[in-house]
Amino acid sequence: MEFIEALKSRLSRNSVDTSLEGLHAYSYDATRKSSLPCAVVYPLSTNDVVSIVKIAHRFGVPIVPRGAGSGLTGGAIPVPGCILMSLEKMNNLLRIDQENTTAIVEPGIVNSALQARLAPAGYFFPCDPGSAAFASIGGNIVENACGMRGRHFGSCYSQVKGLEYVGADGAVVSTGYFSSGTGRILQALLCGSEGTLGIVVKAALTILPIPRDFTTALLFFREKRVCFDYALGVYEKGLLPYSLEFIDGELLRLLTVSNPVFRKEGCEALLLLEAGGDAEPYHALARDHVPQEIVIAKDSKERAAFWEFRNSVSPCLYTIAPTKINEDIAVPLEKVPEFDAFLTDLGTTSSRVRILTFGHIGIGCFHSNFMFDGTDPLAVVEAEDLVRRAIQKAVALEGTISCEHGIGLSKREFLPIELPPESIRFHAAIKRAFDPSAIFNPGKIFLPTESS
Ligand SMILES: Cc1cc2nc3c(=O)[nH]c(=O)nc-3n(C[C@H](O)[C@H](O)[C@H](O)COP(=O)(O)OP(=O)(O)OC[C@H]3O[C@@H](n4cnc5c(N)ncnc54)[C@H](O)[C@@H]3O)c2cc1C
Repeated sequence: MEFIEALKSRLSRNSVDTSLEGLHAYSYDATRKSSLPCAVVYPLSTNDVVSIVKIAHRFGVPIVPRGAGSGLTGGAIPVPGCILMSLEKMNNLLRIDQENTTAIVEPGIVNSALQARLAPAGYFFPCDPGSAAFASIGGNIVENACGMRGRHFGSCYSQVKGLEYVGADGAVVSTGYFSSGTGRILQALLCGSEGTLGIVVKAALTILPIPRDFTTALLFFREKRVCFDYALGVYEKGLLPYSLEFIDGELLRLLTVSNPVFRKEGCEALLLLEAGGDAEPYHALARDHVPQEIVIAKDSKERAAFWEFRNSVSPCLYTIAPTKINEDIAVPLEKVPEFDAFLTDLGTTSSRVRILTFGHIGIGCFHSNFMFDGTDPLAVVEAEDLVRRAIQKAVALEGTISCEHGIGLSKREFLPIELPPESIRFHAAIKRAFDPSAIFNPGKIFLPTESS
């Protein structure tokens, strides 16, 4: 194909892969759905990105950008005939600017690798998704990732001070650095754009001094209602813990099969609390909403064990069924008990689908996992129906269909449940203004009928 020859002539050796193994390796993301691209390219610099975009533009070939492929809505899944652009080799930490508490990075750097580079200088990057060990910063930015510290520090968007991206005509656009007010509109549009508006090639990020004084605790509850009352009480009292993570009893029982040290008979809900400063207000709340047991981490080793336990939830789910739809539905905090009760009832309507939930309770986020056997057609139909009903209920409660994973392919059919037609039209018009030839990630976020 002519455009592949053009790519090969412009990029360095090993930067274009058309081998079948190469195409397969980049055909999927964490949804486990897949589709083959025509070529995989690995830009090493902004200039490479510009060349690739210009070639794609000239030949009318779509580009699907990819960070680490950990997305849960199919954003990085190739579209037919596309160039898959993996940003993984643009992974440098360009500068740590302590005076301005800023790190300047390339997009392919993995979140945990950035944290590891910042830690010796006494800093951290606040955005902390459950996928930090493998997701890229570019992916975090364009998905507007949230995660464990989302309520305290805000989503990734609020930690981006400036961006550089390559637009559909190959222009390199800077939104300014150090929280420039002038570029704020473009920056806001790029954060959460899911690879549909431009390729992020550089970012200036907020970094903060690592807190020294905090408490990490596990709170086990016999009743979910008491657990939710405790969580609500935290925010009603104006407390703002770094993290407040929820795991439901059924999932907890599953997790403790391989981790019996965290098993508590009769426990129906767990909170993992991490908070700075004085712990007394949290103890006072526990006197009003009494947990079955509170375990406070004695040292950094125990703290790490608590977090390792929390982070084992996703892989553990596959021990009960081979197929998972992981949702990131969110509802206002006061509606969490009602939504949770709805999900529990929903779970009883199917013998083929089990619903297990954990989440970032501070942002009302329910990672409800619909577990089933994807080779059973009836189970697939039932799972999809349950997901739709959960989404409809969340929106009826003034919640959202996605608080952090984006829309991608998986949720585009649900977009009209949350957004009115005029809002979808306006979003689609922004896409057309940035990318009139629909080069960047076409078919993502909007159904084809909505984007034209
Ligand atoms: C176990 C697990 C736990 C998770 N926990 C969380 C969580 O707590 N919070 C959360 O928010 N998410 C979570 N996620 C989802 C996922 O990790 C995030 O969405 C993450 O930000 C995606 O990063 P990535 O580098 O893997 O992006 P990819 O999956 O490669 O891509 C995601 C989207 O970004 C686009 N893209 C990637 N890089 C660029 C770039 N440089 N320029 C333009 N577009 C680009 C792609 O086209 C795609 O649309 C989790 C996923 C898993 C598997």
